[in-house]
Amino acid sequence: MVDSCLFCRIVAGEIPTTVVYETEHTLAFRDITPKAPVHVLVIPKDHHENVAALAAADPALAAEVLLSAAAVAKQEGVAETGYRLLFNTGPHSGQEVFHAHAHVLGGRPLGALVRG
Ligand code: AMP
Ligand code: ZN
Repeated sequence: MVDSCLFCRIVAGEIPTTVVYETEHTLAFRDITPKAPVHVLVIPKDHHENVAALAAADPALAAEVLLSAAAVAKQEGVAETGYRLLFNTGPHSGQEVFHAHAHVLGGRPLGALVRG
């Protein structure tokens, strides 16, 4: 655990959140500022700075994050209507929390992939 990391603190139970799905190695919870009717973050419980670092360090855990995201989409009722999986990575992406996380976005047509 990284003490200064917001998502490590969520995993440790130090910051309250709304958990929607959990496996031994992953946690899924509602984004505090939802950008779509369904907006859930799926994280590995272990700290990795971004998805590239996660995939390089622990491919099985990266796969578990993807499988958890698919399970969340099914549970949230958007598996059939469709959803977007997004991993912001690095400065140009606007990544704010440097603990790898997948955004699961859905519940309405999501429009263009990027603006501008
Ligand atoms: P990113 O910009 O990809 O790093 O995404 C970070 C996400 O974390 C943003 O969508 C925030 O709304 C979300 N967020 C920040 N703090 C919390 C929190 N305490 N609980 C849930 N989501 C959070
Ligand atoms: Zn962390």
